[in-house]
Amino acid sequence: MSQRKFYYFDNNATTRVAPEVVAAMLPFLSEYWGNPSSAYAFGNQVHQHVEKARAQVAALIHADPKEVTFTSCGTESNNAAIHSALATHPGKKHIITTAVEHSANINYGQYLQKHGHEVTYLPVESDGSLDLHLLDKSIRPDTAVVSVMWANNETGVIFPIEEIAAICRSKGVLCHTDAVQTPGKLPIDVKALGVDFLSLSAHKLHAPKGVGMLYVKKRTKFQPYIIGGHQERGRRGGTENVAGIIAFGEAAELAMAKLEDENTRVRALRDRLEQTILTTIPNTIRNGAKEPRLPNTTNIAFEFVEAEAVLLLLDQAGICASSGSACTTGSLDPSHVLTAMGLSPMRARGCVRFSLGIYNTNEEVDYLLKHLPPVIAKLRSISPLNPGHRDNDQYDIEGARVKHERDLAEALAEKDGDAVSA
Ligand code: PLP
Repeated sequence: MSQRKFYYFDNNATTRVAPEVVAAMLPFLSEYWGNPSSAYAFGNQVHQHVEKARAQVAALIHADPKEVTFTSCGTESNNAAIHSALATHPGKKHIITTAVEHSANINYGQYLQKHGHEVTYLPVESDGSLDLHLLDKSIRPDTAVVSVMWANNETGVIFPIEEIAAICRSKGVLCHTDAVQTPGKLPIDVKALGVDFLSLSAHKLHAPKGVGMLYVKKRTKFQPYIIGGHQERGRRGGTENVAGIIAFGEAAELAMAKLEDENTRVRALRDRLEQTILTTIPNTIRNGAKEPRLPNTTNIAFEFVEAEAVLLLLDQAGICASSGSACTTGSLDPSHVLTAMGLSPMRARGCVRFSLGIYNTNEEVDYLLKHLPPVIAKLRSISPLNPGHRDNDQYDIEGARVKHERDLAEALAEKDGDAVSA
């Protein structure tokens, strides 16, 4: 299968599997295919490698290897943390999360609400930040866990997890953080953070899809989410995804080694991209606080265009970007993250996320910056929302907005929610 050149600016959706990661995992698909739970030497040697990977992942987050449980993905890790907090505190029925979480939390919260639990979705400010005073006030005697993401996948905005964990500790409530977007971008020290649970997903750090991790702090009561065999010290049934786990271990080392590159070179690429867009394309604005923010992410609102049309035209030039979470692609709904920040549905539908990574180059950013302005100009020239291409100033932009919203609402009603929610 030959591959045409793609210009990949969607690293928050998933990342290229690093060549050294592929090399590390291949022997576990060919030569070392034994079951790590088998007692004989052929299985046991595989077990030894799984434990080496566990130590590598533990080193990435400064944990003890015994605090690392391998799962199938970030979604499972998030679900498992919340499930365990509720199951080990049967008298507590309330959880707190935020309105801008990944659908792994939003939709699990909705599921829990249907099954007798109460969920508080904390609102955010217009720059995507959280009001910690409100968090403090929202904790109740029956709150089992506070689950708040560390970095937002759509805007890159970073929440102050250390402070959040301290509030939880002072109230005797468990604290979970979805840190899926942070490895290789932020240094991670679970002890400094003070959390009880932390989730990661291997495919966001240059390993394959289908493997994740849940950190469970020593002495935290734990009730498994996937019940079965005795794997993972009884914390997660199911024969291990050995090749994926080996890959995760190698990728954890790579993430530590690339932390500086991501925070210097990649950050500079992102900043150049963002600054050039904001200063050369009129009617554009960055969504979310400039700092604290992941070094690789920028989310831009382009007034008077539909992001889906922008992405389609960029795709024709081989450019990959997204209008939000990969898990919500195909949905006509505006991003729940952007609307929670107060953007109108109309404006939220005109936003594009560019998320860079260690394989992006200056030349690729030049390519994107060459192709993006004509795409926006072309779409604006035919947009009914754009007052600019009309020659009289009587153009009724509010009327056009209302009509556009109505057309979309009709389309949404017909579509009736096929798409679910990276
Ligand atoms: N949490 C965040 C912040 C994410 O960005 C994602 C994936 O995009 C997930 C959780 C889910 O991870 P996975 O795809 O491994 O289930």
